[in-house]
Amino acid sequence: MLRPMDRRSEPDRRTLTVAIVGGGASGTLTAVQLLRSGAARGVGMRVALIDQYGRHGLGVAYSTDHDDHLLNAVAGQMSAFHDDPDHLIRWANTAGPGGRPVDQDVTDTTFLPRPAYGRYLREVLAEAEQEARPGGQLTRLTAEVIAIRPNDTGPAVRVVLGDGHLDADVVVLATGNTPAAPPFDAPSSSRVITDPWHPGALAGLLGCAGVRSVVIVGTGLTTVDLAVAITSVSPRVVVHAVSRHGLLPRTHPGTRPHPDRPVWLPVISRTTEPVRLTELSWQLRAAISANPENWHDVLCSLRPYVPGLWRRMPTADKRAFLRHLARYWEIHRHLVPAPTASRVAALRVGGQLVIHRGRVQAVRSAGEQLRVLVESDADTVELQADWLVNGTGSTTDVTVTASPLLRELFRAGLARPDPLRLGIDASVQGAVVDSTGTPSDVLYTLGPPLRGLWYETTAIPEIRQQAAALAQLITSDARLAQRRPDSAA
Ligand SMILES: Cc1cc2nc3c(=O)[nH]c(=O)nc-3n(C[C@H](O)[C@H](O)[C@H](O)COP(=O)(O)OP(=O)(O)OC[C@H]3O[C@@H](n4cnc5c(N)ncnc54)[C@H](O)[C@@H]3O)c2cc1C
Repeated sequence: MLRPMDRRSEPDRRTLTVAIVGGGASGTLTAVQLLRSGAARGVGMRVALIDQYGRHGLGVAYSTDHDDHLLNAVAGQMSAFHDDPDHLIRWANTAGPGGRPVDQDVTDTTFLPRPAYGRYLREVLAEAEQEARPGGQLTRLTAEVIAIRPNDTGPAVRVVLGDGHLDADVVVLATGNTPAAPPFDAPSSSRVITDPWHPGALAGLLGCAGVRSVVIVGTGLTTVDLAVAITSVSPRVVVHAVSRHGLLPRTHPGTRPHPDRPVWLPVISRTTEPVRLTELSWQLRAAISANPENWHDVLCSLRPYVPGLWRRMPTADKRAFLRHLARYWEIHRHLVPAPTASRVAALRVGGQLVIHRGRVQAVRSAGEQLRVLVESDADTVELQADWLVNGTGSTTDVTVTASPLLRELFRAGLARPDPLRLGIDASVQGAVVDSTGTPSDVLYTLGPPLRGLWYETTAIPEIRQQAAALAQLITSDARLAQRRPDSAA
């Protein structure tokens, strides 16, 4: 089946065709920036935003319809545009034809519900689409991209869909977080949910009022989300959350870092030498010990420097960080807002949420129930569960991804895993590096797939900046401009 963008008989050489794979925040913000940048530079843009589940503007994080699922960052940090930090706050406080988009006054320290943020991203996209016409056009496609191939005729790349294809000058991989494989051998049962981010995966569990016991593997943000949703529909349920260290995310203090209290570590001022993990962690500990109540300010101040520090760190040190320190970094960096933390605390006090330190050893079916064997240093316990959910979040090894597209790109040598296998290897501009080590000039990526390159790259403040930079690069790309017959070249 041919898609709308293929229907023309002669390719329009005055227009750039960009296919974006993934309609989450990364893909959406890239589409917005391409449409804006194309209009500003007089470059005609045809943008195809392709999402396999039709979650355009939402992706995994913002497709929840649960208003108790709050953003884990304050509104002042979540604008779609890094050069307009109050954009989200203005949107939230301005009444449209249907009234106020959110039912509260929003300041820069408000934690908005994630469904509201999804509406915001969709509206930002719709507005960019409107303003870019007629030179810029956006097509939202619901389809899975299963392969990307070089194209001998016409535009440079062929994007192969489950049921057709489209051709594009440039492809952006905005495929987001790849869910982790469950760290246990699961019996085949409809009561074992291996990917809670899959659309509709939780429908059975959340639609079942008589649930008494749920085991979730993992104690991170995904588990917090799940515990909030499950206990709100099944008030008598007990949720058991199991992880090796039993560490829950820390509480967001609800403030933005104080601009007058920047934190400066000596290691930041050196820009050429390698960054050693021991030195960095020693300096960070010293900065926090000097000001323990402001630990959040210290981490926020460090955050913009993380990509640069990470790039200068030897691979062996990065591996040591991932093995020994990453889990402590994550629980202090990716926080839960105070209302969510209070809810979690109340659930724990009421015995509805029980945290277990240990590993899932085995899972067996026993009639309608599941028996989950959890082994810790001290003992082994057997938990009876109506449902078992893998809440371990995103994968830490991209080579075992379930994504047919990523597997195919690696197989064909068009992409390769980064040295730490956290994501896709790419240049600092986000150009995907092929199996020979050559950065592509037609295949780019941003956001979570760049974890190996930048480490801090999965949240909106990083994604919005990368999307803007990528759009500038694509719309100003000299090679693409030369392909247009009206160019001076
Ligand atoms: C539960 C949760 C809560 C979060 N909360 C926050 C927050 O409050 N603040 C913050 O800054 N960050 C938050 N994050 C971080 C989050 O990673 C980013 O904010 C952002 O949503 C990432 O968007 P993305 O588009 O890169 O990835 P995703 O949201 O994962 O979107 C990728 C999309 O690509 C689609 N896709 C993948 N492969 C293909 C294919 N082959 N063909 C077609 N489509 C494909 C997927 O279906 C998916 O819809 C949260 C993350 C999660 C998981």
